[in-house]
Amino acid sequence: MSVAIPTQLYIVPTPIGNLEDITLRAIRILKEADVILCEDTRTSGRLLSHLGISKPLQSYHTFNEHQIVTNIISKIKDGTTFALVSDAGTPAISDPGFLLVRECLRNEIKIECLPGPTAFVPALVKSGLPSDSFVFEGFLPHKKGRQTRLKLLSEESRTIIFYESPMRLIKTLEQFKEYFGAERLVSVSRELSKLYEETVNGTIEEVLDKINKKGEVRGEIVIVLSGKE
Ligand code: SAM
Repeated sequence: MSVAIPTQLYIVPTPIGNLEDITLRAIRILKEADVILCEDTRTSGRLLSHLGISKPLQSYHTFNEHQIVTNIISKIKDGTTFALVSDAGTPAISDPGFLLVRECLRNEIKIECLPGPTAFVPALVKSGLPSDSFVFEGFLPHKKGRQTRLKLLSEESRTIIFYESPMRLIKTLEQFKEYFGAERLVSVSRELSKLYEETVNGTIEEVLDKINKKGEVRGEIVIVLSGKE
C-alpha cells in the first residue's frame, strides 16, 4: 500500500487588489502551515491579520533568498511545513519563489502551488487578443539588454504580456511603436480588481493618444501586445 507523501512547501497566491480574491483553500493552508515565508512581513502581516491568522512569519525576498534557501530546506527536512506568499499575486511570477521551488525539487520535497490571483491572466482575457498561445515577458530590462529583447520580440507571433510601472508606461509604448509599428494592437490594464480598474484597447498609436490625454498614469499596469501577423 502506498503512503501519500506530505506536502512541505505550499505556494500560496494572494489578492492583487481585491481582498475577496483569496481562496478558501489559501486561507486553510495559511492557517495550517508552521511558518509563512513572506516577501514583506509587514505587507503580508496586514493581510493575515485581516484573515485572523497569527503564525510565525519569516522574510523571504530577492535580497536574502540565496542566503536562506539551504536553511529552509533543512528545516523542511526536519518536518516544518512552509507556505510562501509574495506581496501580491502568485509567488514566482515576477516575484521570489523560483529558487526555493527548484531546491525543493532537487531535494525531492513535495510542493504544491495553489491556483489563485495573478495579474496577467485577467489582463490577457480583457485584452481581447488571442489567448490560445501567448508569451509572458514580465518586466523588460530597464537598460542593458532592453533593445535586444525588443528586437527579438518584434518577430514573435504569439500575444506578448509585459508588467510595467506607471512611470515607464508612456516611454515603453513609444518604444513599442518604434519596434512593433504604430498599428500593432495593444491593451493596457490598470489597477485590476481594484476600485479604479480600467483597460484601454486599440492600436499602439490610439492607446498612447488616450493615455496621454488622461494625464498622469497611476497604479499597477499590465501591457498585452498582439503578436506579429
Ligand atoms: N506575482 C504577481 C502576479 O502574480 O501577478 C506580480 C508581482 S510583480 C512584482 C508586480 C507587477 O504585477 C506590477 O508592477 C504590475 O505590472 C502587475 N500587477 C500586480 N497587481 C496588479 C493589478 N492589480 N493590476 C495591474 N497590474 C498588476
